[in-house]
Amino acid sequence: MRVRSVAIIGLGLLGGSIGLAVKARAPGITTRGWDRDPSVRERAAARGLVGEVCETAEVAVAEADLVILCVPVGAMGDAARAIAPALAPHAIVSDVGSSKEAVAKALAEALPGVCVIPAHPVAGTEQSGPEAGFATLFAGRWCIITPPEGANPGAVQALADFWAQLGSRVEIMDAAHHDLVLAVTSHIPHLIAYTIVGTASDLEDVTQSEVIKYSAGGFRDFTRIAASDPVMWRDVFLTNKGAVLEMLGRFTEDLTALQRAIRSGNGDTLFDLFTRTRAIRRAVIEQGQDDERPDFGREHGT
Ligand code: NAP
Repeated sequence: MRVRSVAIIGLGLLGGSIGLAVKARAPGITTRGWDRDPSVRERAAARGLVGEVCETAEVAVAEADLVILCVPVGAMGDAARAIAPALAPHAIVSDVGSSKEAVAKALAEALPGVCVIPAHPVAGTEQSGPEAGFATLFAGRWCIITPPEGANPGAVQALADFWAQLGSRVEIMDAAHHDLVLAVTSHIPHLIAYTIVGTASDLEDVTQSEVIKYSAGGFRDFTRIAASDPVMWRDVFLTNKGAVLEMLGRFTEDLTALQRAIRSGNGDTLFDLFTRTRAIRRAVIEQGQDDERPDFGREHGT
């Protein structure tokens, strides 16, 4: 089967980027969209994020081969219940949620008998809303598809082909494994950034204006991540609790070991770790997942 029409529910960063990417890279596919916020619908229409912004979720999904839920993970169940009565019998329902086991469960409960194939494009920014989307968000980034047991292979292939058309590289993964991998590559880094930025803003001996003034020393790179959408990230931690707590335990042990190395003046331990982590940065660049220019390619003037 081939996807010829897509409905996008939630027209923020992810939903808007999917709409724009379809327009740019797969213009033969028609797009309709809906968001619960009338102001978002208006702004989405003004930017032409989808072919048609509909007034109800039912109208948006009625003729769609593929429906993609682009709402916070805690809202997936509600969004699915709202579209359930209007879905075409052959429709595939997917999503872009950042945690997968909890979303798969919520969608399966809300949509009994429907072909549900969850997915997660590992691509994003710290911005949100209908102004934040752009057509190249998914180019060269991975989209992880987590088909439930017994999923229709033709539908999985159709979803994989759709994401490949948007420029993504596609990987199939078990939902539980996805949640563990993303806990360490995405969720814990966000938690660390939120913590550092929070701690720095609560200090008494160092003023907040000093923290901001001297942020180029490293702090500012954490502020980008810590500026990410609070609703989205609250929901990620509430829905990927097990994997996050497991990885956090491991992280805390490693942090304690570093604390000990610093206290005891064990430079070799610090040097060895910092050498290994440089190699990881090189691998990220070699695999096309970041800019190779120093300092993320920031302009430094002349
Ligand atoms: P966003 O820019 O905030 O967009 C989400 C939109 O969905 C908002 O306009 C929101 O409206 C709307 N919405 C909320 N509940 C709804 C419902 N029940 N029905 C219809 N619309 C609803 O968020 P985003 O960054 O696109 O994130 C969307 C999803 O993508 C999340 O599940 C997130 O985990 C996942 N994701 C995000 C990133 C990233 O970097 N941001 C990357 C990969 C995956 P209100 O403002 O009124 O709530």
